[in-house]
Amino acid sequence: MRKYLDQNNLEPEKVWCNKCGKELLVEQGYLKEGCFSARHLFGYFSHKDGMRHSFDLCEECYDRMTESFVIPVEVSEETELM
Ligand SMILES: [Zn+2]
Repeated sequence: MRKYLDQNNLEPEKVWCNKCGKELLVEQGYLKEGCFSARHLFGYFSHKDGMRHSFDLCEECYDRMTESFVIPVEVSEETELM
């Protein structure tokens, strides 16, 4: 869950892990620790047509969630990080 400094929702003021409630480190509008952010708009063939769901997970909760997957997460490396 995020609270933003600006109206365009670009600079986070506070970020919390939706799973455990931990507040993640944010300094001057920049998130300074690992965070999995999900923003999904459900489409026509779902039961949530037109609903946007958003949540954030700290890295520990992300690891616990993905460790339970039957099929592992696909991982690739990026050389340029934003
Ligand atoms: Zn967490």
